[in-house]
Amino acid sequence: MDRNKLAGIRFGDGFKLERECIFCEIGSGNKGSDFLYIDESVFVIKDINPHARIHLLVIPRHHFTFLTSISLTDEPMIGHLFTVAQQMAKDMGIAESGYRLLINQGEDASQTIPHLHLHLLGGHKLGRGNHGSP
Ligand code: 5GP
Ligand code: ZN
Repeated sequence: MDRNKLAGIRFGDGFKLERECIFCEIGSGNKGSDFLYIDESVFVIKDINPHARIHLLVIPRHHFTFLTSISLTDEPMIGHLFTVAQQMAKDMGIAESGYRLLINQGEDASQTIPHLHLHLLGGHKLGRGNHGSP
């Protein structure tokens, strides 16, 4: 993955951003945050309240509240979330040992931030209880 992209990235251009959405703010560069990775459509940050030794969030820069908000044209972007996630797992040295990818959807899954995101958890043996949901 080309980390030099980080230097040339233009924030806030052409994305549907939602007011008062913390992930939109972070993704548009309006709120200081350390990006582990960022490109035209996706960024990666460490979870502020980690539930595993390694707990990253892979987040589309476009605002989607739920998976139900995506359409056919968004399929490449959703696929890209997984490409970036597996690359991050490699970078963090957990591709071989294993990791968990998780998306919380709605109230019963205790989704707290209404901006679609993929949790990447790993770095040790993860429990099976409640599927390790953060
Ligand atoms: P959810 O419960 O919606 O699936 O996950 C939201 C996650 O975002 C939580 O694990 C929470 O700790 C994390 N989070 C909430 N606010 C912030 C923030 O401002 N910065 C970062 N890095 N993570 C956040
Ligand atoms: Zn948002």
